[in-house]
Amino acid sequence: MKENKKDIKTIFQEYKKILLNFFTKKASLKNNNKHNFDMRPCKMPFERIEIYPGGIIYPCCPDFLKNRQSAGNIGTQDFEEIWNGKVFKDIRKKLKKCDFSFCRRELCGEYVPYEGKIPKDYKKGPKEIKISYDKECNYKCITCRDEIIVNSPEMTEVYNNVYLPKVLKAVNNADILTLAGSGDPFYSKHSRHLIKEIMKVRPNIKIRINSNGYFLNEEMLTELGIQNNILGVIVSVDAASRETYKRILRTDAFDRVIKNLELMSEWKKQGKIEWIVINFVIHLINYKEMPEFVKLAQRLDAIAFFSTYRPWQSSELYKKYDEMAVFEQQNEHYEEFVEIMHNPIFQDKRHCVLEGKLIKIAQS
Ligand code: SF4
Ligand code: SF4
Repeated sequence: MKENKKDIKTIFQEYKKILLNFFTKKASLKNNNKHNFDMRPCKMPFERIEIYPGGIIYPCCPDFLKNRQSAGNIGTQDFEEIWNGKVFKDIRKKLKKCDFSFCRRELCGEYVPYEGKIPKDYKKGPKEIKISYDKECNYKCITCRDEIIVNSPEMTEVYNNVYLPKVLKAVNNADILTLAGSGDPFYSKHSRHLIKEIMKVRPNIKIRINSNGYFLNEEMLTELGIQNNILGVIVSVDAASRETYKRILRTDAFDRVIKNLELMSEWKKQGKIEWIVINFVIHLINYKEMPEFVKLAQRLDAIAFFSTYRPWQSSELYKKYDEMAVFEQQNEHYEEFVEIMHNPIFQDKRHCVLEGKLIKIAQS
């Protein structure tokens, strides 16, 4: 039991490193190169899987793989066939020889090396499973989508009857479950069912939650039986005021979400959860609220993570990128944006993490 606790702690520390690396893009080409990759194999393809929309599994984050080759699909294949299949095997073989030729090292921010030998039991299954296939969400944030996505009954049936049994096999050896941010895990009927089923087979699993925070309350967490299993929460907030929240997330739920975050903050104080991240995607509508957002993070003892808006094809905002992207030099609000970024509040490393591009602006 003690060992297990230690493992979770180590995993958490590694995750924190990944989180910060990824967020600050420490591993981006300009900030690093081979120095971030030493002669130790990377753990990721031995220990983690992520299931993407359509049931696709990659041996690592597809954005960091040169050929973006998928390792299989849980809609059509058994989990074991994928986890120990040719694509994973080939990559692991290379990693054992510290051959990173398949990695986009200039982009990868997730390299976690083994300290000692690669454990022999990796074939049994991943230590961490990340669920990213379910897009159902009660919101339609302007940066993400223009319609609320709800799974059709047919889709829910496929998720419940085809995906779920395979996820339950995959989770057999896992210590960590990540409910990733493709939709909201508490709104989706399937995701709620999936969480309950996972808890039956892995009652001690630790959970990282990505959510819009609307249902992140004690009732929901207790109903799902995960109130004592949460490692950390990442909540998209994107605003420091009710009005701006309403414009961006297109729902009047700022006060409700903050109330839920206050509960998480209380739980953090009590040692029930390890960390809270509140996300802020910067664009024309919200950039003036950035300093207030850090204050919010300070009050909640959370990390405010700032990233720049990226045009997603699925959102109308995509067409207005030039107008919205205040962090681009050609934007008419750029100078004012830079001035805001010079606010010393962004130096509060305990409560504020900036994406790489923003660090440079803040330091300019
Ligand atoms: S170094 Fe990066 S791209 Fe390569 S396997 Fe590890 S996480 Fe994946
Ligand atoms: S950004 Fe998150 S909360 Fe907003 S619509 Fe997309 S999945 Fe839902």
